[in-house]
Amino acid sequence: MLPDTPRVRSRLDLLYAATREFNAGLDVDQVLNRVLSTTLVTAGVSNASLFLFDSDGKLDNHFQISNFEIEKRSYPTLGRILDRGLVGWVRKHREGVVINDTSTDKRWYKNDSNAQFSKTRSAVAVPIQLPDQLIGILTITAPKPDFFDQSDLAMLTIMADQAAFAITNAQLFEAEQYRRRLADTLTSVARSINSILNLNEVLNLILEKLALVVDYDSSSILLFDEEGDLLSVRAARHFEDMEDALNVKISVSQNSPNYLAILRQEPVVIADVDKEPGWIKSSSSRKVRSWIGAPLIVRDEAIGMLTVDSYQVDKYTDENVEDVSAFANLVATAVVNAQTVARLKSAETSYSALFEDSTDMIVISAYDGLILDANRMACQMLRRTKDALIGSGIDFVIDPRLPNHLAEHVTRLKVWREISFELDILDAYRQPVSLEVKARQVHYKGKLCVQWVGRDISARKEAEKLRQDLVNMLVHDLRGPLGNLINTIELMPMVLDKTQDVNSLRNLVDLALQTSQDVRDLVDSMLDVSRLEQGEVPLQHETVEIEELIQAAERQVRPRAKEKLTELSIHPLPEIAPIWIDGSMIRRVLINLIDNAIKYTPAEGQVSLATTMQDNTITFAVSDNGPGITKTDQTRIFNKFSRVDYSSESPSGVGLGLAFCKLATEAHGGKIWIESEGVSGKGSTFYVSIPMTFEPQT
Ligand code: ADP
Repeated sequence: MLPDTPRVRSRLDLLYAATREFNAGLDVDQVLNRVLSTTLVTAGVSNASLFLFDSDGKLDNHFQISNFEIEKRSYPTLGRILDRGLVGWVRKHREGVVINDTSTDKRWYKNDSNAQFSKTRSAVAVPIQLPDQLIGILTITAPKPDFFDQSDLAMLTIMADQAAFAITNAQLFEAEQYRRRLADTLTSVARSINSILNLNEVLNLILEKLALVVDYDSSSILLFDEEGDLLSVRAARHFEDMEDALNVKISVSQNSPNYLAILRQEPVVIADVDKEPGWIKSSSSRKVRSWIGAPLIVRDEAIGMLTVDSYQVDKYTDENVEDVSAFANLVATAVVNAQTVARLKSAETSYSALFEDSTDMIVISAYDGLILDANRMACQMLRRTKDALIGSGIDFVIDPRLPNHLAEHVTRLKVWREISFELDILDAYRQPVSLEVKARQVHYKGKLCVQWVGRDISARKEAEKLRQDLVNMLVHDLRGPLGNLINTIELMPMVLDKTQDVNSLRNLVDLALQTSQDVRDLVDSMLDVSRLEQGEVPLQHETVEIEELIQAAERQVRPRAKEKLTELSIHPLPEIAPIWIDGSMIRRVLINLIDNAIKYTPAEGQVSLATTMQDNTITFAVSDNGPGITKTDQTRIFNKFSRVDYSSESPSGVGLGLAFCKLATEAHGGKIWIESEGVSGKGSTFYVSIPMTFEPQT
C-alpha cells in the first residue's frame, strides 16, 4: 500500500490523468510522446527514455526525452546498453529496479559518449509488458544519487502498465489501419489494372500505390524479355539515377538475389546488401542497404519480379515481405491482362485484316438474317456501301428466294455448324454472279451469329462452260471433218473397184486432202495460240508469193462459201514481189477471217478479200455484210475464248480464231483491227497489215 500523503495523492491524480492521456492518442508515435512527457511530469524529472521491442523481441525503436525534447536514437550505439546496461538487466529479469547511485551500481553501463548518460547518478527502470510480451522499457534518470525511492518505482510500474495497454492498442489500431489501407490500395489498384490497358502505366501506378503501404526508398518492376533469359526493368521509382535504373538488365547467369527469388519462386529479403556476396551494386542503387525481391508468378512460372529497397539496414519485416508479395501478385495479373489484351488486339487486327481484305465476300448476320457486318468484297460484289448493307436482311441481299431457304439453311447450320451451297445472285446492276457459299456459326461481338462466306465462282463456271464448249467444238469442228475424211477414203476403193474413174478418184483425193488440211489448220491454230502467247513459236519464214498464198486460202474456204451460198470475191492483187513471212501462219489468218465472215453472215451473204500495198506494208481486208460487231464487242473479240454470242443458236466456235489472228499478225510486227458500225446487214471489215520484209541476203 502506498502511504496516503499529499504527494502520493497528487501523483495518483497525475496517474489518472496520464492513463486518460495515454489512451486518447491513437497513433503509436503520439502515444509514445505522451507516455514520455507524462512520465516526466508525473515523476518530476527532466530525463526519461523508452526502448521499444518488436513482437520478436528485437529492438524496434528508442526514444529519449530530455527537457521535453524527444530524440530518436540510432541502433548501433544502443547494442551495448542492451547487452550490459540497466535496460538489459530489466529486459532479462522482467522487473523494475531503482539504481540509487550509478557510479557504484554494476547494472549501470557507463557510457561516456552520451552526455546524458554520464551525468546520470540515479535511475528507475521498469518493463512495459503484457503478460506474454515485453513491449519496452521505461527509464527515468536524475543527475543526483538517491533521488528515487520505492514509491517512484511503484508509480513508474503503474505508468508502464498503463503505457503497455495504450501502446498495444495504438499498435493494433495502426496495424488495423495499415491492413485496411493495404486492402483498399490493393482493391483500387486491382480495379485500375482492368481499366488501364497500357502496361507501363499500370506498373507505374502499382509502384506508386505500393509506397502507401511499404516504406521504400526506391522500387522497380523487372520482366523477362521475349527469350526469357534477361530480366529488364520495366518500371522504376525514386532511383537516384532513373536512366540507369531503367536500363538495368540482369542475365540468368548472374548469381544474384534476384535470381534466387526467381528460382525459388519465393520472396527474398536481404537485411544488409553489403553482407550479401551475390549483390550487384549499380550506380542507381549505391545507397541501398536492405532489399526485398518478390517474384511475379503466373501459372507456376516466374515472369519477373518486384523489388523494394531501403537505405536503412534491416529495414523490412515479414509483414512488409508479405505486402510486397501481394503487390507482386497484382503486377503478375497486370502483365497477364496486358498480354491478353495485346493478344486479343493482334487477333482482332489480323481478323479484321483478314475479314476486310479477303478476296471472298464475307457477311455476318444474326440468325434472323439481319446483317451485322460486311467486308469490302461484299460491298464490291453487291455494289452497296457497308452502311447500306448493315441493317438490311441477308435474304434480300443474297437471294430474293432466300427467305424460304434461310430457315432451312439455319436449321441445317444448327445441326452441322457449317454448311455450303451454290447460289446464283444478281448484283445491284442485276448482273448474274455465281457464288459458292459457306455458312458457319461464329461468335461476333459476344453473340452467336452466322458468317456467310461467298466465293465468286463465275470464272470457274465460265471455265467449266468453256471446257464444255471446247468439247463441243472438238466434236463439231474436228469430228465432222474427220468423219468426212473417213467417208471419202472409204469411197476410194469402191471407185477403184467399180469404175476406176481416175477423175472421180482425183476429186476424192482432193477432198480428202482439203479436209485433212482443215483439221490440221484448226489443230495448228489452237497449238499456236498457246505457244505464241508464251512467245515460243519461232516463225517459219519463207519467201512467199502472195498470189499463191491467197489461192491456197481460197481453195480451203471456197467449199464452205459454196455450201452457204455465199458470194466470195477475191479482188485482184496489186503488183507484189514475193515477201518474207511465215506463209502457213498468214494463210491461216486469212482463212480464219474469211471463215468467220462466211460463218457469221447469214446464207447468201457477200464476203470479199482485198489486198493493198502502201508504204512497204501489205494490208488484207476481209469484209462481209453480216450482223456487224458493236464497239464494245470490238474491244474484246480478239481475246482468247471471247465470243459475242454464247447462245446455242450462234454458230459453234470457242473464240480462239481471232486470238490466233492477232498473235500471228503481231508476231510478224503487224496489226489487226476491225471496222464495223455494229449494224446488221452492214457487216464488218477485218484488216490485217504486215510490214513487208524480204529474204535476208546471206
Ligand atoms: P469463234 O468464231 O470460234 O467464236 P473467233 O475468235 O474467231 O472465235 O471470233 C470471236 C467472236 O467474234 C465470234 O464468236 C463472233 O461473235 C465474232 N465475230 C468474228 N468474226 C465476225 C464477223 N465477221 N461478223 C460478226 N461477228 C464476228
